[in-house]
Amino acid sequence: MARLGSWIKSQPEGIYVEPADAWIDPSEPKARAWVTHGHADHARGGHGAVLATPETLAIMATRYGPQNGQPVAYDERLRVGEVDVRFVPAGHVLGSAQIVMEHKGERVVVSGDYKRRPDPTCPCFVPVPCDVFITEATFGLPVFRHPDTGSEIDRLLHRLYADPSRCVLVGAYALGKAQRIITELRARGHHEPIYFHGAIERLNQLYQELGVELGELRHAGGATKAEMAGHVVIAPPSALNDRWSRRLPDPVTAMASGWMRIRQRARQRNVELPLIISDHADWDELTMTIRELAPSEVWITHGREEALKHWCMTHQIKACELNLVGYEDEDD
Ligand SMILES: [Zn+2]
Repeated sequence: MARLGSWIKSQPEGIYVEPADAWIDPSEPKARAWVTHGHADHARGGHGAVLATPETLAIMATRYGPQNGQPVAYDERLRVGEVDVRFVPAGHVLGSAQIVMEHKGERVVVSGDYKRRPDPTCPCFVPVPCDVFITEATFGLPVFRHPDTGSEIDRLLHRLYADPSRCVLVGAYALGKAQRIITELRARGHHEPIYFHGAIERLNQLYQELGVELGELRHAGGATKAEMAGHVVIAPPSALNDRWSRRLPDPVTAMASGWMRIRQRARQRNVELPLIISDHADWDELTMTIRELAPSEVWITHGREEALKHWCMTHQIKACELNLVGYEDEDD
């Protein structure tokens, strides 16, 4: 009997689905690409044809210009070549999907980036039992256990209300994290205007166009220090320590990232208020998901593969590492 998933080839530039002649999240231009979500290390421009959710195609169009895209709704069933394929929610960012493929009686699921906890900006991860689960492992070490999101947001608000003469400047990636922080603040009852750095404006607008309520947002560029005092300001992490932040009223520098679990990373960025808010599964979410899906094999990509592989072995699940290039662990 052939090896499980022998029709899926792991190549340095991506996962090649041979019977469909398609690549998943390829790092180089390909004739046919299936894209899990809009982060730059997964979605690149220049492919011949792109299959992705309508939201991911809209994000790609915003970043790269028009794509030769074919939209696929969640759970819509397609047949490409000899493969039945559907996209199901991954809970990572707006439009993010896992790719479920069936061929010759085998089901293979590619998780893309994912998380299990609720996110007001996108539908929750849908578990699909499978024979082979190809999982990310960005936070694949037992040290990574993300706290409850609401309690991290409360820490932010506590600092904000403690000194109304200052602002809290939150570093958050422009796609997904920035809009999630805004919606989590709204969910905690914070309905004041939130100021933003110009670099996240287009994606804020796109999220709103696609139906995500962000409340009242104001461009920090047109505001005075007095106006921004006592308010939250959101900016990409690169702006935290640059000249731009000098326009702000004595900012408390915060950063929202799973990496804030590591004190040294917070110190490197001069972060005074580290907020452990991640768009990736933590160790418990990774292992819980594998238990739930009960795959015969787990293939592990970008991240800390070794510990998760060891966990699988001790739970009698075959596991191996895929060595894909071009993925970054910085989108969180
Ligand atoms: Zn991502």
